[in-house]
Amino acid sequence: AAVVGVLALQGAFQEHVQLLRKAAAQITSTYELSFTLVKTTAQLAQCSALVIPGGESTTMALIAERCALLEPLREFVKVARRPTWGTCAGMILLSESANRTKKGGQELIGGLDVRVNRNHFGRQVESFSVPLQLRFLGEGEKPFTGVFIRAPVVEAVLPRGDARVVAVRQGNVLGCSFHPELTGDVRMHKWWLETVIEDLKRREKLGGSV
Ligand code: GLN
Repeated sequence: AAVVGVLALQGAFQEHVQLLRKAAAQITSTYELSFTLVKTTAQLAQCSALVIPGGESTTMALIAERCALLEPLREFVKVARRPTWGTCAGMILLSESANRTKKGGQELIGGLDVRVNRNHFGRQVESFSVPLQLRFLGEGEKPFTGVFIRAPVVEAVLPRGDARVVAVRQGNVLGCSFHPELTGDVRMHKWWLETVIEDLKRREKLGGSV
């Protein structure tokens, strides 16, 4: 079975695991997927794909640094090019550049060639949810509830008109500003797991390790 990890240093990792399991149950594939929490380099080494949850990106980066996980994470994303999905704080960590905070800069994992503004949508009390039309989930699908909590925005790509970019994919890396794991809506997790399975198939064809 291929292992999909959820980085569990801080934040909403448990919710991701639950929704990933629910999503996997709806996928028929010859690949058996299992899910695990990742707190160590050894656990990361077992994984074929990874989710980095929302939470607090500065805290997560500090813990990752202390656990000597930062470099292995960079390697996982940028050298091994494993499918990696960051939500909210996770997307911040997967960006090549983020704005500084009052406390200064922070370590990032990188992988997405974008710059994010970390708290673009305001503070905790300014949290909101809004229906999003996510075209990659299929045409005519009902809107996806985007939950935005101290959410970042992607700045350094050209948005159309006054649109703000809240989901971005580059190669093996996916980021979104909102929290699909807090909705119970399984569609985005299912879609991402399908891309993970595609990646597993591709690697198998190339004769590499799955
Ligand atoms: N803006 C937060 C940060 O900088 C992320 C908020 C979230 O993940 N809900 O980490």
